Amino acid sequence: MKILPLLLLVGGTLCAGEIPLPLPNGSFETGLDSWKLDGPASVATIQADAAMLGVKGLCIQGDPVRFSLTSAAVPVTPGKTYKLNFWSSSTKALEQPQSNVDAKLVFRSADGKEIAAAPASIRKWPVAMVANTFFAEEYTMAGAAPEGAATLEVKLSSSGKGPVGPVNFDDFSLAELDGAPEPQIAEGGGHPVPPFDPQLLKTLEDEIKAAPYRGKQPPKIVIKLDDFGAAGSGVHARWKKVADYAAAKGIKVTFGIIGTRIQGDNIADFVAWTKQQHDSGRIEFWNHGFDHAERKDGNKRIMEFGGEPYEHQKQHMTDANTLAREKLGFPYVSFGAPFNATDENTVKVLAEDPDIKVWMYGDPRNPAGKKVLIRCGTVTLETPTLIPNYAAFIEGYAHNRGAEYFVLQGHPAGWGDDRWEQFTKIVEFLIAQKAEFVFASDFAGKS
Ligand SMILES: [Zn+2]
Repeated sequence: MKILPLLLLVGGTLCAGEIPLPLPNGSFETGLDSWKLDGPASVATIQADAAMLGVKGLCIQGDPVRFSLTSAAVPVTPGKTYKLNFWSSSTKALEQPQSNVDAKLVFRSADGKEIAAAPASIRKWPVAMVANTFFAEEYTMAGAAPEGAATLEVKLSSSGKGPVGPVNFDDFSLAELDGAPEPQIAEGGGHPVPPFDPQLLKTLEDEIKAAPYRGKQPPKIVIKLDDFGAAGSGVHARWKKVADYAAAKGIKVTFGIIGTRIQGDNIADFVAWTKQQHDSGRIEFWNHGFDHAERKDGNKRIMEFGGEPYEHQKQHMTDANTLAREKLGFPYVSFGAPFNATDENTVKVLAEDPDIKVWMYGDPRNPAGKKVLIRCGTVTLETPTLIPNYAAFIEGYAHNRGAEYFVLQGHPAGWGDDRWEQFTKIVEFLIAQKAEFVFASDFAGKS
């Protein structure tokens, strides 16, 4: 099962009682000013290619090497929680999952002695192992200033476990929290789109305008919409709305079908509609599992393709594929697991499967002979899951300009009017970016 470490969420999202703390040259726009390097100069270099915002970023690389890179010290108040955000990515993500770089919040007393961080008021930690990620991803770390603390520094250092990087860093920012509890975001209806700093949004939009693809091509976009199936004998209005909108905009979208939802005998309207959309070439229908089930085994969460034995997964893959051929009259080409949870049994099942050619959000290090489309955790339709969020999308997009593709996941069955408006805002932004909307299956046979 693949679970991303720490990372993700928040960032430009406004939390109650969050005060930005200036961190000198957190964006490396003035080189390594205000940062102190302990180690060879070759390990920490400033490069244009490493920039995510602005024109400069930090690249850490050495094979292997001992180093530390420490920010300027920022004054703190004991008892307060301090939150650090930064972005990182690696050009070697597929070869080596770990960067062997650790990030740490270091609190010190007035006489310079390091003191261990106290637990933060949010569920984040003061130490992180930085992964080599394919896309630029955001880390959020936090710790409370302990008794006697006077200052805080951000420190990157080698973990001592092997070759370091290459890993790019950019946009370090600090904030002081007032200890108000973290807002709980319930899944399902009613929750509003989280607020976002309008000034930051404007800055990000301007930055994108100034350098839309950082000298590369506009991205390919796969709109990956999950949990499609018959509603009664036909198609639910919210899915039809997506299809009509996509047709009106002239873009391709993809719908992931759950097998059990096309099993019934009285789904003639659904089948006719789906076949017609398939034939139109505007919608790709793909394998989103047979039953999308999950269960508990003690404390362990077992999902259809994450934790179930090989025989179970094999049967479910086969049954879902057979249903497509028999009910809809065409084979699936692409697969995306329920909950995006997969394991080594899924790799075996996929490797044996002749229908599936493309694996969305699969494991690029164990591709099972398929074209794996990697997930970008920060360029998303929905932040959090189920809630389309234009501002969060823009924040991730700005940091990931120049990427070849993005696979954007959504759940349109849960989109009421306010969420729909955010979805269309994202799509229309991408159209203006000259993005190419494609099927996952358009990547079949490409390495
Ligand atoms: Zn699903």
